[in-house]
Amino acid sequence: MFQLSDNNLLKQQALINGQWTDNNKKLPVYNPANGKKIATVPDMGQEETRQAIHAAHDAWHLWKKKTAAERSSLLMHWCDLVLEHQEDLARLMTAEQGKPLREASGEVVYGASFIRWYAEEGKRAYGEMIPAVAANTKIMVTREPVGVVGAITPWNFPVAMMTRKVAPALSAGCTVVVKPAEDTPLSALALAELAQRAGIPAGVLNVVTTGKPSVVGEELTGNALVRKLSFTGSTDVGKQLLRQSADVVQNVSMELGGNAPFIVFDDADIEQAVQGAMVSKFRNTGQTCICANRFFVQDAVYEPFMEAFTVAVKSLSIGSGLEGSFDLGPLINSSAVCKVKKLVADALDHHATLLTGNHEHPLGGNFIEPVILGEVKPDMQCFQQEIFGPVAPVIRFHNEQDVIALSNQTRSGLAAYFYAQDLGRVFRVAEALEYGIIGVNEGLVSTEVAPFGGYKESGIGREGGRYGLDAFFELKYVLLGGLNS
Ligand code: NAP
Repeated sequence: MFQLSDNNLLKQQALINGQWTDNNKKLPVYNPANGKKIATVPDMGQEETRQAIHAAHDAWHLWKKKTAAERSSLLMHWCDLVLEHQEDLARLMTAEQGKPLREASGEVVYGASFIRWYAEEGKRAYGEMIPAVAANTKIMVTREPVGVVGAITPWNFPVAMMTRKVAPALSAGCTVVVKPAEDTPLSALALAELAQRAGIPAGVLNVVTTGKPSVVGEELTGNALVRKLSFTGSTDVGKQLLRQSADVVQNVSMELGGNAPFIVFDDADIEQAVQGAMVSKFRNTGQTCICANRFFVQDAVYEPFMEAFTVAVKSLSIGSGLEGSFDLGPLINSSAVCKVKKLVADALDHHATLLTGNHEHPLGGNFIEPVILGEVKPDMQCFQQEIFGPVAPVIRFHNEQDVIALSNQTRSGLAAYFYAQDLGRVFRVAEALEYGIIGVNEGLVSTEVAPFGGYKESGIGREGGRYGLDAFFELKYVLLGGLNS
């Protein structure tokens, strides 16, 4: 079991209209490192979701009337409390999600950075006056909060994926109903507890826990009071929600899956490239949407890169994040383990070579050894699908045009990485890659100040930076006539 210094952060009820709410159906939450149950939360359905939507709608009328400065100061207070409870939030996250404690602690700071950024940015949501086309008129444009937001979040970053939506929404004057992932509801509930302590009024932030995501999703997409759906998760579920939200013509933001290329050109700094490869591939045990999914290494640097990369991968330590300081934790659940093993088996069946890993890990359960695969081909499943685990498929390439074509040979377009020194090549390749986020000589690209989001089937819209605030506004054009001068 895990210890918290503030036990009230372990909430086992949903938050609806400022009330911690229960029902008699329970959803267990497990520690993926040992399979032990750590808590239960209510398994809510359509009726509770509807109540939360109504509460958010009622609260919206008051919340949107607050000044941006008032909302900002409440958000700042929330941010301070999140940072004050960094250690507890990190322990809760590691217990339910499995990532190493150091990473969980870093995610709490990253999550708080969205709250601080949007607390500030909400005060700069300027409108504008446009030069009028007729005499005695003025054209005014203002930004207005879109209304009640349904926010559906994934399990891989249970704090940051929630604050990246909730902070801009609240700052813009919207209210929110969050549906966290069923594997990781505790982080979301702890954040909601801290929001309450910060003085964010009842109904402004609601959290509905459930083991029936499609039931809650149907209400969030079908209820006309919900004016915006902000979803982060897999492309398949995103497509389904898009279809559902068409009926009420909901404003949507979609942060979906990736299939990132990681290219090492012959003029790369190899040491830098290996460092970038490690952080991009193995952070969160390979379970990030911007994880390097396909490695492309040019002929002339293939041997030195692969040698250093293999040494680095073999040195990764694996264990339970609550029991020591490790580089990798378990995967989230047994179906994730099965999926990753199937992708490796498919590659090996199709004559990829195993360069390291793929033994049963002594800890068993959801722990797996990191794998490097050589001689990977574009028709293998690991090339075509998001792996979401610690597996690095590698392809050797000869020239720039070929690697750009191969990199773009996917329906995803979230993040891409490349390592090169030649300035002409840097600009050429950055422009040619059909991706929303490009890391050049960098494996860590996430920050609250920049737009995060994908091309093609990786999503619609952006989170982060000033673009992330725009997602929660409607533009209103007001024509003022009859202004006799
Ligand atoms: P997922 O299965 O799509 O689940 C995401 C969320 O959607 C969870 O809360 C899930 O609930 C819910 N959900 C599932 N089916 C639903 C339905 N029919 N209606 C409404 N909600 C539904 O994805 P995941 O496995 O949690 O997360 C991994 C995926 O997220 C990867 O593809 C990753 O690339 C992507 N991701 C993208 C970004 C980005 O910024 N682009 C960031 C992080 C992750 P349950 O947990 O109860 O199933």
